Amino acid sequence: MTYDAIVIGGGVVGTSTAYHLVCDGAKILLVDRRDAGRATDAGAGILSPATNTRDPDPWLRLAAFASEYYPQLVDNLQAEQDGETGFATCGMLLVAVSYDEIESFAIARQHIFNRRDQRGEPAEEDLYEISSDEARRRFPALGDVRGAIYYRDAARVDGRLLSAALHRAAEAKGLAVKHAGVEQLLIRDDSVTGVITDGETISADKVVIAGGAWSQAFGDQLGVHIPVEPQRGQIIHLGLDTDTSSWPIISAVRGHYMVPWPDGRVVVGATRETGSGFEARTTAAGVLEVLAEALRVAPGLAQAEVREIRVGLRPYTEDHLPVLGAVPNIQNIYLATGHGPTGLQLGPYSGKLIADLVLGRELATEIDAYQITRFL
Ligand SMILES: Cc1cc2nc3c(=O)[nH]c(=O)nc-3n(C[C@H](O)[C@H](O)[C@H](O)COP(=O)(O)OP(=O)(O)OC[C@H]3O[C@@H](n4cnc5c(N)ncnc54)[C@H](O)[C@@H]3O)c2cc1C
Repeated sequence: MTYDAIVIGGGVVGTSTAYHLVCDGAKILLVDRRDAGRATDAGAGILSPATNTRDPDPWLRLAAFASEYYPQLVDNLQAEQDGETGFATCGMLLVAVSYDEIESFAIARQHIFNRRDQRGEPAEEDLYEISSDEARRRFPALGDVRGAIYYRDAARVDGRLLSAALHRAAEAKGLAVKHAGVEQLLIRDDSVTGVITDGETISADKVVIAGGAWSQAFGDQLGVHIPVEPQRGQIIHLGLDTDTSSWPIISAVRGHYMVPWPDGRVVVGATRETGSGFEARTTAAGVLEVLAEALRVAPGLAQAEVREIRVGLRPYTEDHLPVLGAVPNIQNIYLATGHGPTGLQLGPYSGKLIADLVLGRELATEIDAYQITRFL
């Protein structure tokens, strides 16, 4: 049997690609090794492009499309397969909590408001500065607040639930799944014709590499360096005996954040350990960093129970953009990786774009800026 396509990798990017392919009636096999450290299982799930001050313009362009697409995808999944995803609009507070952060806060504020004014969105009534008292009223565990910006439309999603919902919906539409590692691509006359997994040869017209931080392993065979590195992230789930369902996400100026969930859970994170290698484990220094920063910003979390610590390997690229599209000089192989710290934001939409590319459809969004050729 020959599949229309094989998707390598069952994180949010691979499952979204497979889901969109089977929605079109294609015969698809998803092969997933389920590595410890799968980023999708650890992700905090913050969806808030309007407050992002770290990533370049091409990121924002893709994120704008991805944000617009999210509610539609979530609705479809809910309608199709009782697909709970944890997606909700919960708002976000960007805060400075100490005097030495006031300058960085002012720079971030200028960046965010200039961009809002240039783009004409979000509306002023959805993204605005609030007082310290108002910030503490919205997130009672906060300590001192020296500056706060509120963004009403920030949302969150549960990566595990979302990828499980995509998976279930895709299987209901005929997706075949194999839990194994792809050891090798089959290449004949400069064209990919399938994969070898568990020593078995499986044929396909096309192959998508959505292997997250592990995607680079296919570079040698394809004759191209895939510059995606693992960046370890340690993230801690705290539990409070308080109703946190109306609390917003907190994004602190120094880069850490807190994501409240309705069950009294507040997820605090995260380390960004570039150069960590593939060891998906917690470290004393990582846990210390995450808890110290969380309690510095929100001392009211001090008595929270530590419920769980997760570790994920973000597929990191140096220019903070994903790697999407075809591979030069080899036919029928596509890359969908490199989403770094924002793959839950971008990944579901990237999967849709790559599915359209595989199906030979016109793309709704230009992907030139994300092609691997930018590194060559
Ligand atoms: C601590 C942390 C916090 C984060 N917070 C956010 C956030 O708030 N917002 C946001 O948008 N993003 C966030 N992210 C980033 C986001 O989680 C990732 O960008 C995204 O999940 C990457 O998805 P992926 O499918 O590319 O990779 P993964 O989820 O890592 O999945 C890759 C899969 O491919 C499989 N695989 C690899 N090689 C092979 C092979 N040869 N054969 C078979 N299978 C293979 C692996 O086993 C794995 O299952 C966070 C990440 C971390 C770690």
